[in-house]
Amino acid sequence: MNSADLARILMDWFALQARDLPWRRTSDPYGVWVSEVMLQQTQVRTVIPYWERWMRELPDVEALARAEEDQVLKLWEGLGYYRRARHLQAAARLIVERHRGRFPRRPAEIQALPGVGRYTAGAVASIAFNQPEPILDGNVVRVLTRLGALVGDPRGAPLRDRLWRIAKHLVQAAADEGRPEACSQLNQALMELGAIVCLPSGPQCELCPVRTHCRARAKGRQQDFPMLPARPPPVPVRMIVVVLTRGARFWVRRRPLEGVNAGLWEFPSVEVGAADGDEVGVCRRLTGAGMAQPTAWWEIRHAITRFRITQKVYRAEWRAADRPAGQGCWRTLTQLEDLAFTAAHRRIVRRLGPASAAGALSTSLRSGPATKPCSKPRRDT
Ligand code: SF4
Repeated sequence: MNSADLARILMDWFALQARDLPWRRTSDPYGVWVSEVMLQQTQVRTVIPYWERWMRELPDVEALARAEEDQVLKLWEGLGYYRRARHLQAAARLIVERHRGRFPRRPAEIQALPGVGRYTAGAVASIAFNQPEPILDGNVVRVLTRLGALVGDPRGAPLRDRLWRIAKHLVQAAADEGRPEACSQLNQALMELGAIVCLPSGPQCELCPVRTHCRARAKGRQQDFPMLPARPPPVPVRMIVVVLTRGARFWVRRRPLEGVNAGLWEFPSVEVGAADGDEVGVCRRLTGAGMAQPTAWWEIRHAITRFRITQKVYRAEWRAADRPAGQGCWRTLTQLEDLAFTAAHRRIVRRLGPASAAGALSTSLRSGPATKPCSKPRRDT
């Protein structure tokens, strides 16, 4: 089957089957761009409320460029991969500076923005400006490799380049059709097919508009494509976290401005290994000797990429007159609500809710000794 026929089938299918997603109701390049960045590594149903809130609070490039970084991180809290949020703001500032606040139209200019790669540039150029720019993400790779039963690792240059060429032929064929919004429709059709029909396990081939043209299906080998290399084994990581209280306040600190979860807030924590000795000793080294006997409180398990992380949380009261070790500040529960935490530590804040915080360790929730202003984010790693 030629590209023109395939493009036509895909566009017809998308016109009938596309999900009604909030960012599909706009062709504003800013809104499209924000949605594409949020959707990287994150599921659609998770992104919807984030996108809607973001667009309410930061409705355009200028608003994002002007925003405080704390507001940007708070709006992103829970989406993970926080570098994406920082890149969005850096790009918005660059658009204001170099393009007078107007989103650039040329793919090369879009791709020159911080955090924007070939995929995102192609998505914005095609969806917002209807330009015949290809896209290639995990969903599209799956659809195209199955359709053509394409052998090889799609992350390797030979097959990856071939897939980009196929994607380009398809979107160009759609453009040549001359329908309104053809490039946008074709690229979104490919993404949508991968997201709701050509699933990683258990593709719904009976619902697929291109099933009669699919070579993987004809061979009964849908699951063999794409031919991705085996995943590296999971790596266990163990952390100790200390929730330190003084009256109704909690000791928190801001993460360094570089590295993982840069600029986010957290309770003092440290990765530990077998050589670090007993956990209570780790707690004391982490915050200083002024704490009462720490008690094990909770264990949080979560995964980030291949890391399987266990965070063992201790609680302790601070008894000394001076401050705990390291940079940080005392904050009430109400104040913690306004800070952007890493996802695991946000769970701790939730668990500290009024009932919990009013327990043995705290005497009063909403009042306590006056605090000094918090220190600036650390620049160390
Ligand atoms: Fe994917 Fe099945 Fe459609 Fe082939 S027929 S593209 S494997 S859903």
